Amino acid sequence: MELNWREIDRWIFGEAWTGSQIGDHVEVLCEQIGPRWASSEGERQAVEYLREQFAQAGLADAALEEFALDTWAYNRAEATVEDMEIDLLPYNRCPPCDLEARIVNAGYGTEHEIDRVRGQLKGSIAVMYLALEPFATPSPPNVRLEALCDAGAVALVAIDPKDGRRVEYHNGGDWREPETAELPIPAVTTSREHGALLQKWASEGQRLKLVVESRFYQAPAHNVVASIPGARWPGKRLMLGGHHDTVYGAPGGNDNASGTIAVLETARVLAGLKSALGVEPGMSLCFATYSAEEQIFQGSSEYVRQHCGEKPRLAINLDELSTGSIKGVVLAFGHLRDLVQAQFDAMGDGLKCHVMSQLDATSDHFPFLREGIDAAHLWRWRFSGRHADSNYHHEPADTADKLNVRELKEYVGQLARLLLRLSHVAPEEWPENPMTKEAVEERLAAERGTVVRVF
Ligand SMILES: [Zn+2]
Repeated sequence: MELNWREIDRWIFGEAWTGSQIGDHVEVLCEQIGPRWASSEGERQAVEYLREQFAQAGLADAALEEFALDTWAYNRAEATVEDMEIDLLPYNRCPPCDLEARIVNAGYGTEHEIDRVRGQLKGSIAVMYLALEPFATPSPPNVRLEALCDAGAVALVAIDPKDGRRVEYHNGGDWREPETAELPIPAVTTSREHGALLQKWASEGQRLKLVVESRFYQAPAHNVVASIPGARWPGKRLMLGGHHDTVYGAPGGNDNASGTIAVLETARVLAGLKSALGVEPGMSLCFATYSAEEQIFQGSSEYVRQHCGEKPRLAINLDELSTGSIKGVVLAFGHLRDLVQAQFDAMGDGLKCHVMSQLDATSDHFPFLREGIDAAHLWRWRFSGRHADSNYHHEPADTADKLNVRELKEYVGQLARLLLRLSHVAPEEWPENPMTKEAVEERLAAERGTVVRVF
């Protein structure tokens, strides 16, 4: 097949821009449906909508894939000192509690801060800054939480670094080791302002009453899948995915209607290219929106189990694309760097392919890379260029307006160009993937306890 890239690129960018359905999708997902906690009614509506949209775009095999999700819900979380109610959100998967105990100010929860109050921690509710201690070796919050628990604290109130009494949902554990995701003691987050009050009250010997009513249970959740078969090597696959679920109570404009819609739009543009210019991908292109990224990547983990017995050549994950404009791709492993960079060079827009020195468990690329699959996320802000709006993370203000429509159109155009080019690189020209699950486990063990470098 002789491909006229000039004509193809012109059509792709024209369609990504003027044919865009981003505005409609963001309105439905963030405003009509709203929060999409995996297994909730909101998620169910979202997956029906997404499947229908893939089908309308011409991806005839669009389907929902159900799996049993280990999930959690809470209906009440309150903290009071005397009669004053404190700003509060429970951590995701916070166990239920009903307790009253002395407040202890544990500073940043690092070793020397714990030593300072060790005698008072037994049976107490510890208050700890979530932020990293300035100038000290970075210590992940879950390591500090474990240390407080070992010193006898019965609950944690973490102080959110945001200001203006804003609080976001946080997770326990380090998802590079998913078994650490369960909290050893109840943990909640308070605002910076109420954190300062709690620290003052701690010095006065005050007590805090903390009630969390929550439960753990199993419920059905759904990934959405669809594909465009390859015309030359249909058995070889490239993957584009992003999660459609949100944290509790957040409409998820940036996190992650942006990535979900980019998956859908990229699929729509590439399916349209076939009808408009007769151009098809060489390898098959598989698209997915994942459930439960916010619940320990259970949706993408299920996808990997179901579909990746034979490894796809590359799986690209889209998450929080409105954090910054597109700058390139970040691979987990190095061997595809030159091949991806060669496509970017041919595209001529200065996009870059980088390789991350640490294995990154902040989104749905992790279940892929854990299996030794070539996985990537997009370079959009790390080290520079982060949009201020993306600070409205994991909270109700991550609304539709936090999604940057024009930037997302460019993401769609560039992703369509990249995927189509990669799909036409003959399978024998791809470097062998030497990564095994065992090699990944070794790397994870070596990197345990480190803070992943993002700035
Ligand atoms: Zn996300």
